[in-house]
Amino acid sequence: MVYDTIVGIATLQGMSALNIIRVSGSEAISVVNAVFKGKNLNDVPSHTIHYGHIVDEVGVIDEVMVSVFREPKSFTGENVAEISTHGGSLIPNKIISLLIEKGCRLAENGEFSQRAFLNGRIDLTQAESIMDMISAKTDAQLRLATKGLQGEIKDLIRRVQDDILDLLSQIEVQIDYPEYDDVVHLTQAVLLPQLNVLQANLDTLLQKSNTGKVIRDGIRTVIVGKPNVGKSSLLNRLLREEKAIVTEVSGTTRDLVEGEWNLGGILLRLIDTAGIHETADLVESIGIGRSKKALEEADLVLLVLDQSQKLTKEDLRLLDWTQNKPRIIIGNKVDLGKNVDLTAEKMIDVSALTNVGIDTLEKEVKRMFVDEKIFADHGVLLSNARHIGKIREARSSLNGAISTCDAGLPVDLVEMDLRQAWEHLGEITGQCGADTLIHSLFSKFCLGK
Ligand code: GDP
Repeated sequence: MVYDTIVGIATLQGMSALNIIRVSGSEAISVVNAVFKGKNLNDVPSHTIHYGHIVDEVGVIDEVMVSVFREPKSFTGENVAEISTHGGSLIPNKIISLLIEKGCRLAENGEFSQRAFLNGRIDLTQAESIMDMISAKTDAQLRLATKGLQGEIKDLIRRVQDDILDLLSQIEVQIDYPEYDDVVHLTQAVLLPQLNVLQANLDTLLQKSNTGKVIRDGIRTVIVGKPNVGKSSLLNRLLREEKAIVTEVSGTTRDLVEGEWNLGGILLRLIDTAGIHETADLVESIGIGRSKKALEEADLVLLVLDQSQKLTKEDLRLLDWTQNKPRIIIGNKVDLGKNVDLTAEKMIDVSALTNVGIDTLEKEVKRMFVDEKIFADHGVLLSNARHIGKIREARSSLNGAISTCDAGLPVDLVEMDLRQAWEHLGEITGQCGADTLIHSLFSKFCLGK
């Protein structure tokens, strides 16, 4: 296929030592050759690197190295030339302008990866992993994205897809060739256990996806408590920077303040909320509406109490609202004394003012998320919301197949749901569409013997 030739800068522009300009498309090598003084790049073998100069009609722009990759064995699957130039923004911009003059088009965001996908060099999960890798902030996020890039996510899902295909091909044969007697007759008793195994596999994938999401997106940690218990002070302590406004006037924190807390490689996204309580103040109540929503979406709740004073109705209501969430109860202001005793619940004594107990709090979060959940699981984890959504859809189609089978309905009805489950998973692996299905089915079952 002939694509126009695109050019873009692959590195971050700024005060760097080097920059890489990437050119991809049918004419990539000849266009670069037209502005390159050195070897004739049109004659060099693929996967080689060459020293020379980029020149325009005035003279030399920069001393460069050019790497040449010929289609189809390049990142995009097309002819690719990568020019390593000196850093800064002036030189790369001049070279890019020159290449555009010679017939290249400026690449759009992500266009190199998009071409890699369109040319079958990477699948969707890998393309999405590239993005995750670039935006990773912790080691665990990076490891997760690397696994995605290596195609492990795709392999995992494709295995389930293949199992579905196996079953589909058996059903197909039974429907189309009832007289064919050396295939297993698919009765309800044969089908149902197989469907249940498939469903269990999807469930395992989904369970793992929760952990993956936590690594990728961070743990949404919401700090709640009535006004003035010290939520903002605690947030500042944890983030070690002055982000939230702390004052002595009740209800100062009107909005959600977010900060990121990297704890042992896991990112906690901290969200401070306006004190959740009934109020006549309109601005404040908007903040409060959002607080309630934040609470619903939280992976972890830090419930702050002021333990220098007796618990109020508001505290009790918050204890009640959050009881079904993963939560840590924090007794703040321990420096002022202890007037709260939660016999049935574990409470961590801290003082946001003097820093007492902050290390104990960190240990507790690590115990809950880092030690127990994340690193216990070394397998492949799904983290992409789109993938998780598709697996859920596949699971629901599979549920349909199980109910149909359970009700003793004809096997062609089971087949419809199964096909749908296969399609949903295919939207992750890229293996989908009626043609692919038919092709795969026939490659599994050779009936012309
Ligand atoms: P928020 O409304 O819950 O966000 O509370 P703030 O963080 O604004 O704190 C309210 C007041 O309590 C401020 O005057 C803080 O300095 C004070 N405060 C917060 N934490 C502590 C603590 O651990 N000990 C003491 N003595 N005062 C605290």
